[in-house]
Amino acid sequence: MSETIETDVVIVGAGPVGLFAVFELGLLDIKAHLVDILPKIGGQCAELYPEKPIYDIPGFPTVTGQGLIDNLMKQIEPFGPTFHLNEMVAAVETLGTHEAPRFKLTTDAGTVFDCKAIVIAAGGGSFQPKKPPVPDIEAYEGEGVLYAVRRIEAFRGKRVLVVGGGDSALDWTVNLQPVAERLTLMHRRDAFRAAPDTVNKMRALVAAGEMDMHLGQIQGLKGTAPKLEAVIARRDDGSTFEIPCDVLLPFFGLTMKLGPIADWGLNLDEQLIPVDTEKFETSTPGIFAIGDINTYPGKLKLILSGFHEGALAAQRIHRYVHPDKRLTFQYTTSSSSLQKKLGVG
Ligand code: FAD
Repeated sequence: MSETIETDVVIVGAGPVGLFAVFELGLLDIKAHLVDILPKIGGQCAELYPEKPIYDIPGFPTVTGQGLIDNLMKQIEPFGPTFHLNEMVAAVETLGTHEAPRFKLTTDAGTVFDCKAIVIAAGGGSFQPKKPPVPDIEAYEGEGVLYAVRRIEAFRGKRVLVVGGGDSALDWTVNLQPVAERLTLMHRRDAFRAAPDTVNKMRALVAAGEMDMHLGQIQGLKGTAPKLEAVIARRDDGSTFEIPCDVLLPFFGLTMKLGPIADWGLNLDEQLIPVDTEKFETSTPGIFAIGDINTYPGKLKLILSGFHEGALAAQRIHRYVHPDKRLTFQYTTSSSSLQKKLGVG
């Protein structure tokens, strides 16, 4: 049982909007922990378009998705946020009152937080793996079927079957091959959408007899769930064959789903969370929603809107976290107290 982490605010989602919220909260002396289901920071910017330029971030005529995330990380450095990656916020329990909210929040990795406010900056919801359309696959998940590699060592000495033709499939093929007892890659055609260098490395390993590659698609699983013994594969001509394996890693891309947030008892509007436009608070006092996940009249799903929403939410959160302190409006350009917090001036 893990210890409970006490903090002022938990931010669900480490996309651009969640990151900037750390800055706005930090200026008001509010500490934050961030949780993200992905193994890396940056939400859609880092996951979907790291190298594409964005042209409508105020003050940046052009910045790439990853460039924006790198800058945000630099900007929030003075506030020392703690990140919990590879974890999905699963459940929320209300402990406080409407006037003095407090929440217990639990992740799927068992981390427990006790906090005074929650900021949902979950974008389009949680990125979840697209699953192969195979009957009973759920029964094998967690042991015989995995959708992400959390620890390479967990694959040592195992017969691993990677399925897919994109960057994740090829990267993990090359990275797991040295530890696996036998690594097999299967893709439906002999053409890959991954970095050419990685594809070349994979082909060299196949040519050297150090791993196998098959053309085909998953048709079924064989074993005593959750233990996997083999994958039944189908060729284009309809014939089938078996690939003995202990672990199947299908990399079919990610899709976005609201996920467990849908069960938190908040008012929802078609997978989005309605908020007011004064403080961006949800139907539950103390739970805020900013960025792509929220909805209100006139909402634009732009990064700059999310930044504004975080600034206003922080003002209300200050009241919950520091009820006895008066909040005075200050500019970073001229306030020596804000500059002290930022470690400048
Ligand atoms: P996201 O970036 O979606 O981040 C949300 C994070 O929350 C994700 O990392 C997710 O894993 C995590 N999460 C969700 N649920 C949970 C949970 N239960 N537990 C833990 N973590 C969770 N916008 C612009 O302003 N200008 C542009 O030019 C522009 N170009 C774009 C181009 C493309 C191709 C795409 C796809 C989008 C573009 N956008 C652009 C939109 C912009 O990326 C989004 O508005 C922005 O990413 C929203 O930020 P966010 O922080 O609200 O959410």
